[in-house]
Amino acid sequence: MKALFISDLHLTPECPAVARAFCHYLSSRATEADALYILGDFFEYWVGDDAMDDFQIDIARQLRQYTDTGRPIYLMPGNRDFGIGKSFLHQTGITWLQDPTLVEINQRRILLLHGDSLCTRDQQYQRYRRFIRNPLVLGLLRLAPLTYRKNLGARIRHNSRVAKESKSLEIMDVTPSAVIDVMEKFQVDTLIHGHTHRPDIHDVALKKSTGKRYVLGDWGDQGWEIELNNKAITLGAFPIQQP
Ligand code: MN
Repeated sequence: MKALFISDLHLTPECPAVARAFCHYLSSRATEADALYILGDFFEYWVGDDAMDDFQIDIARQLRQYTDTGRPIYLMPGNRDFGIGKSFLHQTGITWLQDPTLVEINQRRILLLHGDSLCTRDQQYQRYRRFIRNPLVLGLLRLAPLTYRKNLGARIRHNSRVAKESKSLEIMDVTPSAVIDVMEKFQVDTLIHGHTHRPDIHDVALKKSTGKRYVLGDWGDQGWEIELNNKAITLGAFPIQQP
């Protein structure tokens, strides 16, 4: 079985090249796979299933075309699109993944995360994350008036931009001990995540073995993917044509 993993496309009408690249990916590369996993920050922002704009509706249609062929798409929320709800999933035929999720593919146990939960040195963010991702808070947010949600969405994007500029690179990256903790907890030697926009493959010193942490990159001038087949797991990039 061949599975593909992507994350951090940050789809927005402001970057039509990335949206086009994704649609092309769906109809070419992804048709060679048995499953597609999207590990968060697929959309740059998500105000609510009831407030989808033409751009998001078009992406939803493309996703539906893909799942209609019988191949599954799995979507894990990121810190930008955690508000995606049941209606979007129903429209697109996508299956929701909890963060984290343990999967077994080709006899390999693999832990999937978006990655923000591993950035434990950013305590301010972790406090905010615990609050905003609380099911009760999320439920109330879904009921809040659209204008309120739009303002909140703009604030989240602003805060995340400011944080990137003002916080050190170390704080914004994963904490090595948090990686080890979660891998020991789930008893895996393979971890795949995105979020940090630092595509790479890292060795992780676990108690009984050396694990691997695969980090997906964000889509911009190029797209990133991880392919898992019967033989190996590989991280790859491909150019995205700018308009
Ligand atoms: Mn993220």
